Amino acid sequence: MNTHEETVRLEVQALSDTLRAYQKAYYVENRPLVKDVEYDRLFDRLQSLEEAYPSLRFPDSPTLRVGSDLTSEFPEVEHTIPVLSLDKAYSSEALSSWMARTEAKCGQDLSFVVEEKIDGVSIVLYYEKGLLVRAVTRGNGAVGNDVTANIRTIASIPLRLPEEVTVAVRGEVFLPKAEFLELNKGMEVPYANPRNLAAGTIRRIKSSEVAKVPLRIFVYEGFWQDQSLFADHLAILAELASYGFSLNPTIALVCKEKEEAEARLEKVSLQGSALSFADVDDYVRMHTAERASLAYEIDGLVIKVDELSVRESLGYTEHHPRWALAYKFESPQALTVVENIEVQVGRTGRITPVARVVPVLVGGSTVSNITLHNQTYIDMLELAIGDSVEISKRGDVIPAVERVIEKNEMGNGVWHLPDVCPSCSSALVARGGHTFCPNVSCPDQIRSRLEFFVGKAQMDIDALGPETIGVLIGLGLLKDVDDLYTIDYEKALCDQVGFGEKKIAAIKMGVEKSKAQPFRRVITSLGIAEIGKKAADLLVSSGIQSMEELLAIADRDDVERLTSIKQIGPKIARLLIDGLNDPAMRRRIAALCEAGLQCEEKEPPSKAEEQSFAGQVWCVTGSFEQFNPRTLALDEIERRGGRTTSSVTGKTTHLLAGSGAGSKLAQATKLGVEIVDEQRFLSMLKEEKTAQKSGQMQGEFSF
Ligand code: NAD
Repeated sequence: MNTHEETVRLEVQALSDTLRAYQKAYYVENRPLVKDVEYDRLFDRLQSLEEAYPSLRFPDSPTLRVGSDLTSEFPEVEHTIPVLSLDKAYSSEALSSWMARTEAKCGQDLSFVVEEKIDGVSIVLYYEKGLLVRAVTRGNGAVGNDVTANIRTIASIPLRLPEEVTVAVRGEVFLPKAEFLELNKGMEVPYANPRNLAAGTIRRIKSSEVAKVPLRIFVYEGFWQDQSLFADHLAILAELASYGFSLNPTIALVCKEKEEAEARLEKVSLQGSALSFADVDDYVRMHTAERASLAYEIDGLVIKVDELSVRESLGYTEHHPRWALAYKFESPQALTVVENIEVQVGRTGRITPVARVVPVLVGGSTVSNITLHNQTYIDMLELAIGDSVEISKRGDVIPAVERVIEKNEMGNGVWHLPDVCPSCSSALVARGGHTFCPNVSCPDQIRSRLEFFVGKAQMDIDALGPETIGVLIGLGLLKDVDDLYTIDYEKALCDQVGFGEKKIAAIKMGVEKSKAQPFRRVITSLGIAEIGKKAADLLVSSGIQSMEELLAIADRDDVERLTSIKQIGPKIARLLIDGLNDPAMRRRIAALCEAGLQCEEKEPPSKAEEQSFAGQVWCVTGSFEQFNPRTLALDEIERRGGRTTSSVTGKTTHLLAGSGAGSKLAQATKLGVEIVDEQRFLSMLKEEKTAQKSGQMQGEFSF
């Protein structure tokens, strides 16, 4: 084992020990030592280390086991059904991608049931011939504690079912918020939350004490001796309801079509929301917002595959079923210290304060820079340099400062934006909640504009990285994006360290090839606020086929022409017109068209071309011989009516994979996306041309 591995091994050991101690305090003593988000952060860290170094994973790692709530005060009983935890996600994107992945894995359309994730205590109720014989805690998933006498005191749990069935029912015992607040008042050592009080109550020795606490239950799974009697989860819920169990009415069924979901809920007489896949995001958002107004605590939503045959084929890990996922409301959080606050000048001159924090791991990656948006946000946080802060990763990705935990001891006051631009010293101006540097020649603005212009989604000039741009700015040769097309690169760079013949040739070739980028990309590359790829596509598809036409609209201040395009509102129209009417922008556009960039849309595609990729969503990765830059491939797809995206998601239908394709290829394989190599792509393009030709010939013959 090398030194690095030894360091990792020690961290894995320390994390495993800490998590075990936290589990004991939480599950057994019901007095958590840390907040759940801190526990989840350490859990995620351990999980990612174990994924990277599988050999260092302890066989009894906390990530492999269900956190055990076993205590010696109650007899232990073996479970006859799997009683596990849930895999989790923190964003609705992650949830949608899980649904898509699961569908891809199963190779069929699926429906999903969404339930509230009740923050209570997991319990399994065992019925034999219709009688409640045992109530068992989750324990370690295989063995739990028999707490039957205590559970019998919960009025809403039927002791006898209307049928003589043998069934195991999983549910969550909980204490409503109002009752918790009332009871907790009288506690010598108050509990942190209703979950802990409910868990503590279930483990009381005297059932008469338990009976005084108004515990409730929602049941959510049933396991019969002959499970084949049921086709799906909805049927199980309906059956449990017919037995008199208390079910949470807040459920949703997600099907391909909303109407199908409606019909299926109606068929089993269950209340609930009928959703299509497109509605899931809004449903999650609504529940996140309404969570606080509920009478009981929930810490997320649980999404489950509805079809039981599919559940069976997906199976379980040692920790969770593969057919369900918990969406947790709380994003992963961590504590850190703000070491400095710097300002960045964007390509439109917008000033963004950025906190440099002591690097810290959150949700699996290290965070060291966090955007602070604007002065209002900083004032709201009352943030100063040196403050200890709580940070989170919102929606799984974007780190944010949530609040100040401890003020700095250096006496630093709330941080304020400077009055002048840190790059060019121009006086800053406020506009619509943000602050701007008004100087279009500001070096930082130029740099940001250039970096954007050469970026992948714009002119895609790979060879011109930030360092080369820095060198060219330093030499005084790059004052605006159009200078890229007039610089004599050989002369400029031949004496510079790190610029060999090959590198200079690559830069020249990249710049030359960028002239072939289609008109819509030229629009995007101008860097007008809010005018990205989508807006450019909308403009071109609405019939604006040249820069000349676009500038004429701006000259006429023709907001209406723009707002007549579906999805372009007055705000975007105004930004576009003002952006185009800016004198510096006009000069830039004239120079770019003069340099030979595509300032007109090419011939509209023929009908047959338009159709062939319609309805498909393509992602392109790796490098190609014929499609270099690869935007050429994107153009071929888009010209044929296909959509292109920069990442592989559940919606992607095809991945065009060139050499060196990495994580996107792996993701596509995982999701079951159709993978196409360059050769096949070429023949797909050719096939369609042949089809077109033969169509034309047939037309000729029939004349
Ligand atoms: P979990 O509570 O996050 O999720 C699994 C449980 O959800 C299931 O076992 C079930 O009991 C419950 N559940 C509620 N509603 C459900 C529904 N409708 N369908 C299915 N299941 C439903 O997982 P866990 O393993 O019980 O606990 C892990 C979590 O507990 C952690 O993420 C952490 O937040 C917390 N925890 C905190 C500490 C701490 O020290 N603060 C220690 C250990 C665990």
